[in-house]
Amino acid sequence: MGFPFAYYDLLDAFAKPGCAVCALLLRDAAQFLDKLLYEFVNDRQMQRAFRASYGLCNPHSWQLTGYRGGALGAAILHAAVLGDIQAKMDRFAPASAALTGISRLFRADAPGEALARALEPQAACMACERLAVAESDAISTLAQVIHLPDVQSAYQASEGLCLPHFRQLLRQVSSPSDLKAVISFQAAIWSKLEAEIAEFQRKSDAHYGDETIDADEATSWLRAVGQVAGAKGALPGTRRP
Ligand SMILES: [Zn+2]
Ligand SMILES: [Zn+2]
Repeated sequence: MGFPFAYYDLLDAFAKPGCAVCALLLRDAAQFLDKLLYEFVNDRQMQRAFRASYGLCNPHSWQLTGYRGGALGAAILHAAVLGDIQAKMDRFAPASAALTGISRLFRADAPGEALARALEPQAACMACERLAVAESDAISTLAQVIHLPDVQSAYQASEGLCLPHFRQLLRQVSSPSDLKAVISFQAAIWSKLEAEIAEFQRKSDAHYGDETIDADEATSWLRAVGQVAGAKGALPGTRRP
């Protein structure tokens, strides 16, 4: 993780369905979670970090459960988090002097506020943090190589960047001709998608029920979700401690 994305990685990613940057990030998240379960699970530094953030964010936590043979790794990591949570619960148990003391200190707070605060994560999701680095690497690499003809043709032949990544790219491309190129590529891709969605809508209408919806039209609405929101699970979350 953290290595700059090479340009052939980008070319590969443009050939995949959906946004190329999202595709790279999904690959990276999968690699990180795999390492976390099978290599880092007994690494003290990793465990400390995992405990500081009380596990991963919601989507990454559930992604972690999808790995074959990963149950023991997930068990070890989460048992440590549960241990920390219970230690905090003991310290702030309602009958304890600590809670009375804390309540006196924060008189204006609700009685459970001190414990609630103690149970807030002290760090962001590790997978999201890595994705944020990988995302900015990918966008800056793309901005640097966007003038190359084969990158431009790969972009044009692709399903386009998602809106969040297109915005990031726009902010990084400084040459006016490159900027003009990416805007025209993206506009053409989105026009084609719009036309497919229009056909999907028209043919889905009961009056046109006998017209066949082709494969591209049938998936157009899902691709539109991906183009507007980014691929499922590909964007670093905003959960911050
Ligand atoms: Zn994207
Ligand atoms: Zn996350």
